[in-house]
Amino acid sequence: MICAARPSIADPFLPKKIKEGRVEDIRECIGCNICAAWNNISAPIRCTQNPTMGEEWRKGWHPEKIAPKSTDSHVLVVGAGPAGLEAAHQLGKRGYRVTLAETAAQAGGRVSRESALPNLNAWARVRDYRLGQIAPMVNVDLYLNSELSANQILEFGADHVALATGATWRRDGVGRHLRKPIPGADSSNSFSPDDIMDGKLPEKGSVVVYDDDHYYMGGMMAEVLAGEGYQVTLVTPGLCVSSWTEHSLEQEHIEKRLVGIGVEILPRHSVLSLSDAVVQLKNLVTGETLQRPGSLVPVTMRLPNDALYDKLVADQGKLDAAGIKSLRRIGDCFGPGTIAAAVYEGHRYARELDTEANPDGVPFKTVKYDLELGG
Ligand code: SF4
Repeated sequence: MICAARPSIADPFLPKKIKEGRVEDIRECIGCNICAAWNNISAPIRCTQNPTMGEEWRKGWHPEKIAPKSTDSHVLVVGAGPAGLEAAHQLGKRGYRVTLAETAAQAGGRVSRESALPNLNAWARVRDYRLGQIAPMVNVDLYLNSELSANQILEFGADHVALATGATWRRDGVGRHLRKPIPGADSSNSFSPDDIMDGKLPEKGSVVVYDDDHYYMGGMMAEVLAGEGYQVTLVTPGLCVSSWTEHSLEQEHIEKRLVGIGVEILPRHSVLSLSDAVVQLKNLVTGETLQRPGSLVPVTMRLPNDALYDKLVADQGKLDAAGIKSLRRIGDCFGPGTIAAAVYEGHRYARELDTEANPDGVPFKTVKYDLELGG
């Protein structure tokens, strides 16, 4: 029963689908523990794979059912990452004609990249479940290797455009702790997590990973680089490595793993500068400065890939002339966050397309309590 908990959150219809032999329709849990994390921070439960989790009553979102389309609109979704795939899948279920355009040769966006990291191969289920669902839909077309310019989007002829173009890790160290770029972080000795995931690695030797993101990516970069033979120092302003993962019950495991592979961990430290392949550090408790040789990998925050949106929105006249009724950013392109948040936004976009929002209401149900004063 315990083992069935998370799989049932990811797909409450798991037993029914097994009984009916619909194994390919099962939305498999990816083991990310976002459900546990949201519980631990006393927030409404969320699930990376099942965006309806926790919204069944509040928003009336059924995990398997969605309202049919209310118009014959054609929707162009740009970007086949978690948000784009979920939007295309649910719009397809509603019966809309959907074109999903992806720049890369493979769908999945960040989940494809991150699922190649150590022990994250289950992340690919976010992509594979949705690709499997979209494949038989005659009203949904997926085009890979298809980067679209603003002009091509205008000329495409879609009624609605959703931009799900993701986000990019910044490499200048700006984040929660440092509000200005690290001096020297614009040199060739600074590498972002995207660089590392693309196989663009520092010169062999030592490397400092500066983690001010506090989720899994800092620890992951340290593990990848240690595995490649680098001498790795993980520096974080946090109280411990990957401190946010205490919520997802992973912190102890990450720390033990990094210590086990020889990563030096310096909590409550920050980076002062990078110069001539020397990283200057500062102990945030004592103020003492120290240094480590090598390159720098800042893991701090991501910036939305929203240049396409800025170009399109700059000329409302062109959007009107092209017949585009709505232009929306969804997922990391709107606000970089968890994969769960991107899937949720993609789902919400599809649910709410062609519906009228009440400007005076809240987008969920509330309970009205009648108080009998003195009664
Ligand atoms: S949040 Fe992650 S671990 Fe929890 S049920 Fe969903 S996919 Fe599984």
